[in-house]
Amino acid sequence: MRDSEWRKQLRGLISAKERTELLRVKMPETAVEERVKSQRVEVNIGLTVEQAQREAKRCMDCVNPTCMEGCPVSIDIPGFIKNIERGDFSEASLILRKTSALPAVCGRVCPQEKQCEAKCFYVQKLKKPSVAIGYLERFAADDELQSGKTSVPEKAKPNGIKVLAVGSGPSGLSFAGDMAKAGYDVTVFEALHEIGGVLKYGIPEFRLPNSIVDKEIKLLERVGVKFVKNFIVGQTQSVDELRKEGFKGFYVGSGAGLPRFMDIPGENFNGILSSNEYLTRVNLMGADSPEADTPVLRGKNVVVIGGGNTAMDSVRTAKRLGAEKAMIVYRRTEAQMPARVEEVQHAKEEGCEFLTLTNPVEYMSDEKGRVKQMKVQKMALGEPDAGGRRSAEPIVGSEYVIDTDLVIVAVGVSPNPIIPSTVAGLEVAKGGTIVVDEDTMQSSIPDVYAGGDIVRGGATVILAMGDGRRAAKRMNEKLMC
Ligand SMILES: Cc1cc2nc3c(=O)[nH]c(=O)nc-3n(C[C@H](O)[C@H](O)[C@H](O)COP(=O)(O)OP(=O)(O)OC[C@H]3O[C@@H](n4cnc5c(N)ncnc54)[C@H](O)[C@@H]3O)c2cc1C
Repeated sequence: MRDSEWRKQLRGLISAKERTELLRVKMPETAVEERVKSQRVEVNIGLTVEQAQREAKRCMDCVNPTCMEGCPVSIDIPGFIKNIERGDFSEASLILRKTSALPAVCGRVCPQEKQCEAKCFYVQKLKKPSVAIGYLERFAADDELQSGKTSVPEKAKPNGIKVLAVGSGPSGLSFAGDMAKAGYDVTVFEALHEIGGVLKYGIPEFRLPNSIVDKEIKLLERVGVKFVKNFIVGQTQSVDELRKEGFKGFYVGSGAGLPRFMDIPGENFNGILSSNEYLTRVNLMGADSPEADTPVLRGKNVVVIGGGNTAMDSVRTAKRLGAEKAMIVYRRTEAQMPARVEEVQHAKEEGCEFLTLTNPVEYMSDEKGRVKQMKVQKMALGEPDAGGRRSAEPIVGSEYVIDTDLVIVAVGVSPNPIIPSTVAGLEVAKGGTIVVDEDTMQSSIPDVYAGGDIVRGGATVILAMGDGRRAAKRMNEKLMC
């Protein structure tokens, strides 16, 4: 493939030196004053054809593409980018779909800067900005979805073997897509009334429109994946009962949807809620609408605790819901925030404030029991821990009080406990995650596999998808023996 005629022709069009001299494209964005008016106006607009083809020219089509080592689902990155360069966008999207069930999603939310783009030749060898792999992935996937001419990947002959996924987040969807392509009769059981997991109930529409997730799901349906909503595996029916119904393989992708709190005085006051509740009510239940049966609580002076993507999504949501002041309070420095750099930048552009090296220690309420103030303590960076990350140490006597009328707690999540607590003999680690073999994602029960946040305890979309693919590969090998 690499030495095909068209590839040689592309190389002849422009020299390697000229390719490296092109500047990385900038993602066009909706103007700040427009986007802060609505939860449903997408911030990143997407590249034009001209921008995408120009950016694709920067890719050197390396003989050993190190970018692919950084992709947990092993996308043929130079393959799809070179097809964009020569204008064959449908071939580009076909290449994406061979290994990724959700390219339009990943092109929007994957932390490429820490994965494929971090391994790009430009970063590694030239110390220049990487090829914008994520933007190009989004371009090819969107072009396909918008054209309506979606390419359904090749599918093996049906083998009649029934398998299932617990949970319709990216991990379950990725597993389901691969198993359906391999000819299995695949059902995804989802506890909620919508398919998509965090992609629907967590990540706001200004970053990932629900319509995009729905279009990707429709494609999975076309490959033959069946979806059952409002079905809690372990409660509606147990894994044992489903086994008796003929399911031969189980993939648990039930995520880490259990919010964590800090366990500090006053945390039960009205006006203090988890980011899970806040975002789910807005994203999945339309509770930002004044007509909603149970509208979400609004604040003028909102504080969000945490420094991850969830915290950024919450503070930006608060701004869109009319907060006069929306502020992040984070115990470490900005450089240590786990959130994507782009999200931090966007939050700042939108007027969100950042109070770093600061941690809440107590909440105070008004006479009706609604939070009105919080006591915070200044922090200093201590020694690096085992992972090399410097700890945050409290500075004694540095406490002071700030005003707030709504606090969103985004300090992490725990694994969903239903499957670990209802499947007898399933090995579970101390923190509630399911223990699996890292290469095969097989659990202590031979026909039960698991991956995504239920195994990792809160990670990323693409890692969850990679787990789903690995489990599908192994389950297929086992069932075909
Ligand atoms: C607000 C927010 C923003 C994020 N932003 C990003 C980002 O920008 N980039 C990124 O890469 N990652 C991001 N993440 C992390 C990423 O979304 C998760 O790592 C990923 O969704 C995990 O996928 P999953 O399939 O394992 O679980 P989930 O997406 O959590 O899906 C699990 C699904 O299983 C269902 N379920 C649970 N138990 C059962 C049961 N017993 N029976 C049936 N169904 C069940 C749940 O209802 C849920 O729909 C973000 C997370 C949050 C919360």
